[in-house]
Formats: sequence, C-alpha cells, structure tokens
Amino acid sequence: MNSNNPDPHYREHLQAVAEALKALKTPLYIVTHVDPDGDAIGSSLGLARALKALGKEVIWIAEPPRYLRFLARDQELHPALQRVPEGATLLVLDSAEPGRVTGAPVEGRVINLDHHGTNPRFGDLWVVDPSKSATAQIVKDLIDLLGVRWTPEIATPVLTGLITDTGNFAFANTTPEVLHTAAELVGYGVELAELTDRLRWRPPEYFRALGQVMETVRFHFGGLLVTAHLPAGLEVEDSDDFVGQIRYAEGAQIAVFLRERPEGVKLSIRSRGGVSAQAVAVSLGGGGHVPAAGATLRAMGLEAAYLRLLPAVEAELRKAGYWAD
Ligand code: 5GP
Ligand code: MN
Repeated sequence: MNSNNPDPHYREHLQAVAEALKALKTPLYIVTHVDPDGDAIGSSLGLARALKALGKEVIWIAEPPRYLRFLARDQELHPALQRVPEGATLLVLDSAEPGRVTGAPVEGRVINLDHHGTNPRFGDLWVVDPSKSATAQIVKDLIDLLGVRWTPEIATPVLTGLITDTGNFAFANTTPEVLHTAAELVGYGVELAELTDRLRWRPPEYFRALGQVMETVRFHFGGLLVTAHLPAGLEVEDSDDFVGQIRYAEGAQIAVFLRERPEGVKLSIRSRGGVSAQAVAVSLGGGGHVPAAGATLRAMGLEAAYLRLLPAVEAELRKAGYWAD
C-alpha cells in the first residue's frame, strides 16, 4: 500500500497502538530515520518521554544533528543497536520506509508511526496518515489517548516536529488542526520564541559556506527548476536547509539541493504549484511528501547526479503541464 490519502481508520489504528503501549511489560526501543529532522527527533523524543512518564522501559536511540542536539539531555542518548533483544518492541517514527530506519534493525515486534504517503505500511501495528502535517501530530494524539499529563519537557519536542515540518507554520500542510495543536502545546509551557530562535542556529561554517553554495545556483527549464549544491570538499553540518533558501526563487516550481556523500549524492527536493517533489524522488529511487521529498543517487558524483536529475524533473514538469515542446 502506498497512498497520499488520509487514513479513514486513523482513530482505530491509534487506539490499537495506545493499547499495545499501555500493556507493554518489556523494553521499548524508539528509533527514527537517517538524517533525522526536527519531526524525527521531536516526535520520537516527545513520545519516549511520555512513555517514561507512564513507567515504561523506554530506550530512545537517535543521533540528533547539531541544531537539534539541545532538545535532548545527555543521559537520554543511547547508541545504535545491532539486534533488537528477544521479546522487545521496536517503535519506528517518521520513517518513510524500513530501509530509512537507523539505530536498530527493523525486526521483532514493530510499531510504525508516520505521515509519508510513500510509507509501505510496514510493521505489526502502524498508523500512517499522510494528511497529518507531521509525525509529531500523530504523537500528540497518541499521548492524549495514553492520558499522560503534558509537561514542557514532553510538549517542547512534539511542538518542534510541528514547527519544522510546517516550515514555521508556513507550508501548505499548516492546517487548522496543526495550529490548534500548536496553541495547545504552547499552553503546556513551551517557550515558543526561545524554541524557534534556537532551531535556527547554525554553526559558523554554515555561514562561511553560504556564499560558495549560492554561487552554484543554476536555473533550468526557463527558471521552473532551481538547483544548487554543496561544492565538493566542503563539509557543513546542518546543511539541510540550503534548499529552504533557494526554493523561494521567483518562478521556480521545483528546487533541488545536491550534496555529495560517501554513498552517493543526496537530493533534497521541494516543489509547489501542482508539481510533485515526491514523484521526482520516487522516480529516482527515493520518496517523501508531495511538496518535500528526497533521494540518494548511489555511486555517482555531482555531475552524473545532475544528468539523472534533469530528465526526471522534466518528466514531472511535463506531467504537471508546465513544460512542453
Ligand atoms: P530532506 O530533503 O529534508 O532530506 O527530505 C524531505 C522529505 O523526504 C523527508 O520527509 C524525508 O523523510 C523524505 N526523504 C528524503 N530522502 C528520502 C529517501 O531517500 N527515501 C525516502 N523514502 N524518503 C526520503
Ligand atoms: Mn515528518
């Protein structure tokens, strides 16, 4: 299964997960996706804290990137597992596919909470609802069902997921539901101004690289596509949001940022106006949401990656009616 439609059985699926978690007497390992973003870290850490408050044995396994590290306390960080111990449960959040999960192998009893349309609905129990703005929204509903008392420590990471996945409540997924939820979470004592400020901090090398990255900006298809890349040899922590800067090029329906990695070239794809970043990502072996998706082009360099990318974007621009000859 693979669909962008809301889950008509959302409440029942969530209830089943809540019951399974309440009944749990064995350790629960909580993991998320590689290159974790604010929703991955926020939804998983918020749920881990809520379940600990319920008295569950919870081990949160994640490596937050530098800009999200402040959310977690040192003693909350646990190293990756080679195997999931016999009898334990693995809870996977915000992970579009099992292959994107990091921190533990996807084995044993698996619970999958996610909002990516491309999620194949893996696991023994799952709640996958692409109409939710963030996995953090699913976690918010789940924590309510579990009846855990909200504290700023639980609400802050959950709100982080909503803030980052909606681009500070600006993207098309900023529904009335997400705004209501955010208001509720702020009411539980989150320091909103401090949180949004802190989430935007980037290391000095990010700003030193910014000029060089902007020099790589190119327009294709008469400006419908804007691209940029991290020049070879430059290493920048927290480079994810360069795509967030170029996506505002006037006239661009799609923006792609490319970064060389040991395994290949990582693409961050954003789109608007009926063009699907998801469709482009899927055609290149990746996945994600309609307006924000990604893929890794394995075993190739930047030049080859551009050569793969351009026809994939062209096909989507044609399909969406923006490009014809
Ligand atoms: P980003 O460009 O920020 O890394 O990713 C944008 C969205 O696409 C995120 O929701 C992310 O989980 C998803 N995504 C990124 N890369 C991949 C990929 O290689 N495969 C899949 N299935 N999803 C991806
Ligand atoms: Mn997400």
